[in-house]
Amino acid sequence: MDRVRDGISASPGIVIGPARVLHMDAPPVPHGGIIPQEQVEAEVERFYEACNWAKEEIRQLREHTRVELGEVEAQIFDPQLLMLEDVDLVGSTAEYIRKNFLTAERAFEWRVLEWETRWSHTTHPMVLDKLNDLADVQARVLRRLLGVTEPDLALHEQGEGIILVARDLTPSLAAQLDSSRVIGLATDSGTRTSHSSILARSQKVPSVVSLGSLSEEVRTGDELILDGRAGRVIIHPTEEEKEAYRVRDFQTREWEQELLLLARLDAVTLDGARIALRANIDLPGEAGAARAHGAEGIGLFRTEFLVVGRNAVPGEDEQYAAYRKVLEAFPEEPVVIRTYDLGGDKFPAFLHMPKEENPFLGWRAIRVCLDEPRLFRAQLRALLRAGQHGDLRIMLPLVNDIAEVEATRRMIDECVKELEAEGHGTIGGYSLGAMIETPAAAITAPELSRHVDFFSVGTNDLVQYTLAVDRGNSRLAKLYNSFHPAVVRLLKVIADAGDDAGLEVSVCGELAAHPLGAFLLIGLGVDSLSVGPSALAEIKKVIRSVSQARAKEAAAESLTASTPDEVESILAEHMGDDLDLSLFTGSWNVSRRD
Ligand code: PEP
Ligand code: MG
Repeated sequence: MDRVRDGISASPGIVIGPARVLHMDAPPVPHGGIIPQEQVEAEVERFYEACNWAKEEIRQLREHTRVELGEVEAQIFDPQLLMLEDVDLVGSTAEYIRKNFLTAERAFEWRVLEWETRWSHTTHPMVLDKLNDLADVQARVLRRLLGVTEPDLALHEQGEGIILVARDLTPSLAAQLDSSRVIGLATDSGTRTSHSSILARSQKVPSVVSLGSLSEEVRTGDELILDGRAGRVIIHPTEEEKEAYRVRDFQTREWEQELLLLARLDAVTLDGARIALRANIDLPGEAGAARAHGAEGIGLFRTEFLVVGRNAVPGEDEQYAAYRKVLEAFPEEPVVIRTYDLGGDKFPAFLHMPKEENPFLGWRAIRVCLDEPRLFRAQLRALLRAGQHGDLRIMLPLVNDIAEVEATRRMIDECVKELEAEGHGTIGGYSLGAMIETPAAAITAPELSRHVDFFSVGTNDLVQYTLAVDRGNSRLAKLYNSFHPAVVRLLKVIADAGDDAGLEVSVCGELAAHPLGAFLLIGLGVDSLSVGPSALAEIKKVIRSVSQARAKEAAAESLTASTPDEVESILAEHMGDDLDLSLFTGSWNVSRRD
């Protein structure tokens, strides 16, 4: 067994303590499960009673979370409440009971399995969250139906703090952690943005996710070091390792204090170059955190939350309210809203997308939008209306060719005319940009630049398409390297094309959140970096610690490198020793979706 396990950092902090392994699956449903016809209606009643009971429990948990952690965290439970009101889940289960004479638990288990299958081919964090929510709902309803009591977490006994190790954590459990007892969390699966990670961060419980099969290998009582900042767990640490981590803990606390002071300072290099530092957000509610962490606007607002896992197309007014909320949070600054990036691994239930052999090379992003004008027009109309409340920049994902931009512009022009005719006033003041995420778009950036108002580089996809390495395939994680010379050279083509055309070039992929990546991008002449709210302070620290002139030298030299390692060492050498790179959050994998 490998003693040192690397996962994904989900909540910072270093702790040392004994493991408590928790197995929290839904209770098993007994075999059999056929009932006499005359019992059917009573069984349906019993099922509805269990659903109502579960709803009430979740409402109480939501309220507890609201009081303890705040409204944003409380909203994590809303999807579960919606699931328990969804006819496709609840109504269909009742139908299965009636048609197949199944017990409520058997019928519900079937229906849940069908929902899971629908989503199981994806690795997208938003969908994984839905699966985790569904597991939470399933366990709760089944426990009620089977008369099983809540699992005894035995987390309240006296003694030293424990590090909870589990396959995954449901939001319910994460919200109820007793942070005086649970000093750390380590899970086999999960992502940095999953609901349980959000809750762990809010409760300041150091946490590492995506650790493979840790929960099967560790036993309750085994001593662990958990480094939530680096995303690492060490099993049975030596005395030297424990001492080294105590020192590191001290250093990181000092570093965090320093970062706190940065929110209000400008993102300007030592030689006076201003870099617009903006935030990536996935939900409207995150705009507040972005602002608090010092973002100068939003560089990427992903809009898939409006459609993924939903059974119906979202209405124009609902979308308008979501976009407006973010624009109003940044009335003076740019807000870049990306149109739906569906397909790949993000499938809304209502689109009935065909199963594809190669979804990432398939019907995805702008291709889907242009083929589904009803869906796209509603989004464009909502965006144009919301644009009246700020500096809206509409951004198209996975653009590969000029015709896609032109077709979108024609649609926008039609929507503007419609909206004005409907009395929405004069619509104007928005701009239209392309994400550069494929080698095709990068190489033809000089031509594309004549048709758009800005570029934003999605390095997460650009890297996977340039290197032909699936960003979600953990087996290929080592091959997915954002510092590959081919990527660096494409970035140079894009930055130069933007510069020649006088367009702003921003980078919103994860490379911008890596200290060496940010340094490289500044050197290539990128105007803006957009990173998740939690990375804002660290990247501001990088910007304020380097000179643009030095970054330019480093970038020029990187362009002559022949391997990813060479690129990294050139960058590290030019950046100097003033910044301790080991203090930065996250695993050093700049590449993969998490
Ligand atoms: C990217 O590809 O870099 C990007 C920012 O978009 P997403 O991660 O949503 O595909
Ligand atoms: Mg992308």
